[in-house]
Amino acid sequence: MKSNEIRNRWLKFFEGKGHDIVPSASLVPHNDPSLLWINAGMAPLKKYFDGSELPRNPRMTNSQKCIRTNDIENVGKTARHHTMFEMLGNFSIGDYFKKEAITWAWEFLTEELKFDKDRLYVTIHTEDDEAFGYWTELIGLDPERICRTEKDNFWDIGEGPCGPCSEIFYDRKPELGKDETFHPDNHNETRYLEVWNLVFTQFNHNADGSYNELPKKNIDTGAGLERLCSLLQDVETNFDTDLFQPIIQETARLAGKKYHETPEMDIAFKVIADHIRTVAFSVGDGALPSNEGRGYVIRRLLRRAVRYGKVLGIEKPFMYTLVSVVGDIMGEHYPEIVEKREFIEKVVKAEEERFHVTLAAGEQLLGDVIAQTKAAGADTLPGDKAFTLYDTYGFPIDLTEDIAAEQGLGIDREGFEKALNEQRQRARAARKDVASMNVQTEVFDQLKIESSDFVGYSETASAAQIL
Ligand code: ATP
Ligand code: MG
Ligand code: MG
Ligand code: MG
Repeated sequence: MKSNEIRNRWLKFFEGKGHDIVPSASLVPHNDPSLLWINAGMAPLKKYFDGSELPRNPRMTNSQKCIRTNDIENVGKTARHHTMFEMLGNFSIGDYFKKEAITWAWEFLTEELKFDKDRLYVTIHTEDDEAFGYWTELIGLDPERICRTEKDNFWDIGEGPCGPCSEIFYDRKPELGKDETFHPDNHNETRYLEVWNLVFTQFNHNADGSYNELPKKNIDTGAGLERLCSLLQDVETNFDTDLFQPIIQETARLAGKKYHETPEMDIAFKVIADHIRTVAFSVGDGALPSNEGRGYVIRRLLRRAVRYGKVLGIEKPFMYTLVSVVGDIMGEHYPEIVEKREFIEKVVKAEEERFHVTLAAGEQLLGDVIAQTKAAGADTLPGDKAFTLYDTYGFPIDLTEDIAAEQGLGIDREGFEKALNEQRQRARAARKDVASMNVQTEVFDQLKIESSDFVGYSETASAAQIL
């Protein structure tokens, strides 16, 4: 079953249960300064969960673009993590609760998608006897397939609605036999793949740290489309699905290499395929490469991908040519990725070109530093050198870290941060000097724009430069 069909089936299934289909919101949060990126299906619906707005229909379903920068390091290494992924969700704002959420999740997986019941396991919160009752009595799930655990099973982000979770896992290795001591951590993802998280927001976390039952309880669920695809397409990783393969194949063609030639090159293929989606969608949603906030996330991802391109032997800008491939794959549900294609390509190409100017020189320097470090018998690169790479050659610190790690070396992060802070102080002092001279010139205005923490502004400025 192809990704477009799985997504459609999800939305139609929940529409059939009285839900409104809500289009994906932008990756750039609207009116929510607490978030850098939309990172879950419920994030753009928070206003309904906290009661500040009333939805048209208390039942909603969506397929929401999400970015999780905390998973950057996982990408290419695990089978299941991306920096951008689609979270399929169903939500109830004070309407249905645990019983329906569990019943429909089971019905969708086993009847609509036809997953084998004997390959599903669930976790519940240690104290959630109500959920245990529904899973065993209503669904008929063997209690040995249920793991009571506190880890990852209580959704609580401080003051506000919170509650226990129940997560659904798929057994990739049933040949190992029924697992009577099922715990999601037992074999990590090689055996159990987390596909769906059901959150039962039934409490309020009060300012004084106490909890009370909410008069109106909510449901918030999220399932990764890429993971469902990997299971339904019976492939080992999300990268082997129709959501990623066309990007990987096109990269392989550009590089004159093959996917699955070597493990090192496979990581490069996966990182590139992952990062181009994130970059293309975030630029399409109005964020632009820069040195701060969201813009710096885009810059880091793009530069990392360019470097992995070099691992595959691609020496010139290429990421921008993959934007149309992403559009071919996902444009049906996200028309913006097709409509904004030309703009995205221009932004990506300009950023790639900018980095290529300093990339070779930076790599040369890094190569020398690595050789010196090894010759001295040390295992970490000096922080001031990492800073020069960052400051003069545009190497984000995690890129330098990637390259060093490939050589079995770490980085003196403290030394790097120290050099970075010193430079910031110098820049601040320089700005003060200018201010004290009371120079109200265009140059000064420009400085103010560049030093502003308000990302939207500098993004607009650089958009103007690019176009
Ligand atoms: P994991 O333990 O695998 O990192 P999670 O518990 O952090 O996942 P949740 O916050 O419960 O994930 O998100 C709900 C669902 O979204 C997950 O069950 C999974 O299917 C999907 N998901 C979460 N993070 C990612 C990611 N980085 N890439 C792809 N899918 C993801
Ligand atoms: Mg996670
Ligand atoms: Mg988890
Ligand atoms: Mg989870």
